[in-house]
Amino acid sequence: MKRGMKYIIVTGGVMSGLGKGITAASIGRILKNKGFNITAIKIDPYINIDAGTMSPYQHGEVFVLKDGGEVDLDLGNYERFLDIELTREHNITTGQVYQTVIEKERRGDYLGKTVQIIPHITNEIKERIRKVAKKSGADICIIEVGGTVGDIESMPFLESVRQMHSEEKEEDIVFVHVTLVPLDTQGEQKTKPTQHSVKELRSLGLQPDAIVVRCKEPVLADTKSKIALFCDVPAAAVISAHDAKDIYYVPTLMEQEGLSDYLMEKLKLTPREISHEWDVLIEKMASIDKEIRIAVVGKYAHLGDSYISINEALKHAGVECGCRVKTDWIDAEEFERKPASIEMLKKYNGILVPGGFGVRGTEGKILAIKFAREHNVPYLGLCLGMQLAVIEFARDVVGLKDANSSELAKTEHPVIDLLPEQENVKNMGGTMRLGNCEAILKEGSLASKLYGSTTLIERHRHRYEVNPNYIPQIEAKGMKFTGRNDHRMEIAEIPGHKFFFSSQFHPEFKSRPGKPSPPFLAFVKAALQ
Ligand code: GLN
Repeated sequence: MKRGMKYIIVTGGVMSGLGKGITAASIGRILKNKGFNITAIKIDPYINIDAGTMSPYQHGEVFVLKDGGEVDLDLGNYERFLDIELTREHNITTGQVYQTVIEKERRGDYLGKTVQIIPHITNEIKERIRKVAKKSGADICIIEVGGTVGDIESMPFLESVRQMHSEEKEEDIVFVHVTLVPLDTQGEQKTKPTQHSVKELRSLGLQPDAIVVRCKEPVLADTKSKIALFCDVPAAAVISAHDAKDIYYVPTLMEQEGLSDYLMEKLKLTPREISHEWDVLIEKMASIDKEIRIAVVGKYAHLGDSYISINEALKHAGVECGCRVKTDWIDAEEFERKPASIEMLKKYNGILVPGGFGVRGTEGKILAIKFAREHNVPYLGLCLGMQLAVIEFARDVVGLKDANSSELAKTEHPVIDLLPEQENVKNMGGTMRLGNCEAILKEGSLASKLYGSTTLIERHRHRYEVNPNYIPQIEAKGMKFTGRNDHRMEIAEIPGHKFFFSSQFHPEFKSRPGKPSPPFLAFVKAALQ
């Protein structure tokens, strides 16, 4: 008999930024470790259709899916923790829901009725959730409701999951609420914010089955029983999610707290094949004894959240090599203001220039790339990091002094340019070259060595391309385009350099703990030497 879909709804209280995404991903992971197929949905209560038009400096990284969906960074956490690939429907936003309902209204689908939040918006939300869950073929679907309980924006979503609770079988849906236990000046663990946020949740008709408590330190038994009493959950269902050394320890911590057993009991599930893959990863992480330092040269570089996937990909590669990758985020504009300060890059084992948009900081990044090229320092360039590497090479080695990208300046030599198909694009949402594209790799190249293949599929997010007119000149001087998709250049490398690899795609999005991305792995290996 085919069993029904199991839903785990994750809500958050007290304040944002508690790590609800990591909690949701970790819950998924501990159940995956028990042999279940897991999928996950992120609900974002904002009006944007997707994260594509949002600034990564305000909202964190825009994660890119295989189908080209530009989504919330939590989908990156799900993909990494669960080792799955998701699609754009797994990120539901208010904008999408209203857009669909309004389109239906215009078509006359509602047969003259007044269109309302309840039931029309809530029905649309439930329908989307169930359709996505079913299509995934998973056993369990984790649904993370973004925002904090009590926000106006998240009301229709909370109402929808409330309705789901009464429509689904008792054993098919559980609610997990993530809260915070702060410490007072005496260091005492305070439960009041948790009590208040559960009260708020209940006023919406939702009762949590488990409460995951974020805390600086392990949550004490006394604190747990207090929360259990006030919030009406068994003490065993109050889970201490205290600060961990690394996010990848969180599933282990939750397992030790008994969360997977509790959830399986609630959902009437019995464990299938137990996997120890995650334990192996954790052991490897714990035994790291070396360290390398990587300079990531970006704009407003202090905001590590805008480049989460790069950080994670470096970490995955580091774990594989038994080393900790310490990244310093360096503001490229510093090199523009003080060109002599470029010498500070000497202390790094490798230099990375990430993706980006707009002119700000690009000249500083070009200085950093020049430094890497001239001093034989391992270089990894991602998207804009490849475009700038081509510009640097064209200026300094080919001799095209004003070479540039037409995104960044008016120039005689647009070595990076728009292809005709991108020239008249006005709508900024979802019109870049997005998601999975293939590249054919040159035999004998570094690229084909790294990937152990003559083709690859990686994710993209860009508008501009290497201008095909300049390829012969550039290649004649020693920079080789060793990965191509028809007339689009996917990889630029410099043979003979210790390690100089740059790609138009974003390999960071496909990197997984235990399965590092090939260019990242090779970069870290080169940096270790
Ligand atoms: N701004 C460049 C482009 O649109 C690079 C984009 C990126 O780095 N993601 O092509």
